[in-house]
Amino acid sequence: MNRRQFLLSSAFAFGVGKASYASGYGEMSSAAWLGRQAPAPPAAPPVTRFEDLRRGVGMFIGQGGTIGYLVNGDGAVAVDSQFMNTAEICSAGLKQRAPKGIAMLLNTHHHGDHTGGNKAYGVAKIVAHENCLKSHRATTEKTADQQAYATATFKDVWTEKFGDETIEARYFGPGHTGGDAVIHFQQANVMHMGDLLFNRAHPNIDRAQGARIDNWITILDTVSKRANHDTIIIAGHAKDNAVRNGRAELAHFRNYLTTVLEHARAGAKAGRSKDEVTSLPVLKGFEDNVSPNARLTLAFVLGIAYDEATNAK
Ligand SMILES: [Zn+2]
Repeated sequence: MNRRQFLLSSAFAFGVGKASYASGYGEMSSAAWLGRQAPAPPAAPPVTRFEDLRRGVGMFIGQGGTIGYLVNGDGAVAVDSQFMNTAEICSAGLKQRAPKGIAMLLNTHHHGDHTGGNKAYGVAKIVAHENCLKSHRATTEKTADQQAYATATFKDVWTEKFGDETIEARYFGPGHTGGDAVIHFQQANVMHMGDLLFNRAHPNIDRAQGARIDNWITILDTVSKRANHDTIIIAGHAKDNAVRNGRAELAHFRNYLTTVLEHARAGAKAGRSKDEVTSLPVLKGFEDNVSPNARLTLAFVLGIAYDEATNAK
């Protein structure tokens, strides 16, 4: 094998395609392609952005559930934390905006893409619903040293003044998990729904940690009544990151969950199997909903609905 043949076969063996090989860097850089001498280029930093909404309240979009924040004369408050890599970016950005620093963190629920970065804020006060803390502990036993758990929990409602804003966290019963809180910045008229709102996307439903679709539908109705036409409603996840929502998106998602549960209940009542019920190719009226990842499909959602309708374990 001559040198040229060696380079070609090595390049292809390492998955370097024609485009790289023809890119004009010559033989000097072939070692880099082979990964033997030159260090690998650093991974591109994650794409993130801050979006101010109203009266110091805004949202941070990165990887995982949308982070909410409040910045005013008393400092900053964060709602959720995604994972460590983007939480560090969010934390640094909030400290820049708030010279007094980050005073506290609220968690909407326990999932890793909302709590995995809790430690990055370095706060002494973390507020969550009591079931959120229970689920957080139960699901992170093996990684407890990497977690920052809630330091203050509540049962029904938690309220605190922060500068010229009033923050309320309220529990409406089981929904996406058994411990979801809705965070309401009252003067700004902004609500953070956590994962109680997926906009145009098939949701995760954590039945193992107490989720209930039937009560979730009730929660969406209740929150809609508590909001008004001007309320900005932040979704945890959305198709194309469209997480700045209002009552129209709450209603759309409520109708989606209602249609899902009705299909599952009708199937169960007619004696259809779970496979039959979950094989529905599209949900009429909700054809444009996307799967946030490979697991969260219409079949997954229908499967959970079937389990709920049949009281399966
Ligand atoms: Zn979640």
